[in-house]
Amino acid sequence: MSKNDIADSFNAGPFSLWLRNTRAGKDADVPCGSCNACCRSSYFIQIRADEKTALQAIPQVVRFPAPGNTASQVMGYDEQGHCPMLQQGRCRIYAMRPQTCREYDCRIFAACGIEAGGAEKQAVNTRVAQWRFEYPNPQDEAEQQALRTAVEFIQLHRAALSLDQGTLHPTQLALLAIEVFEVFLPEQSLAEHDKIVHIRRIFERASNS
Ligand code: SF4
Ligand code: SF4
Repeated sequence: MSKNDIADSFNAGPFSLWLRNTRAGKDADVPCGSCNACCRSSYFIQIRADEKTALQAIPQVVRFPAPGNTASQVMGYDEQGHCPMLQQGRCRIYAMRPQTCREYDCRIFAACGIEAGGAEKQAVNTRVAQWRFEYPNPQDEAEQQALRTAVEFIQLHRAALSLDQGTLHPTQLALLAIEVFEVFLPEQSLAEHDKIVHIRRIFERASNS
């Protein structure tokens, strides 16, 4: 058992700063420590065609074409849900790992107050429950509250948003809420219908990109 497995909590940093950086698409600088939970949680790892270094490092036998996206490939996982590049608890291609791995930040689930998934994501869920954000200013708390309200609103209005369980997995839900949280800030006064139109537009734009 690693030190991280027995720690009660981990500092996720100041909330608003993290939210701003995440929305700006800055490479996640996650203080993972010795955690490797997302490398053993049954994730399919997307590898874009222009990621030449990653493609060279990952044997062809563990890659296959990404469904519905001929420009990308996907790396699967073994019967335990482990990435085939994980060896003795470490990524053996760390310096050459795909962008998907560099961008993964399990704090999105902690920020949104949701889990990363079911039993196959238990290791990530454990880590998610251990993150603690800092709230140095009232804005940090207001933005956290708005984000959680956005999550609840999206879940409650799935039908009106034309989103079903199949099309909106936890990662998509978290990323969508992060995109639209501003309309749930206390100073905003959008009508419910306008919020739905706004969220739907953002979701479609993300789906088509
Ligand atoms: S689960 Fe989170 S903390 Fe653990 S390695 Fe992945 S991103 Fe880092
Ligand atoms: S390529 Fe490396 S960082 Fe990415 S999931 Fe596999 S072991 Fe983890």
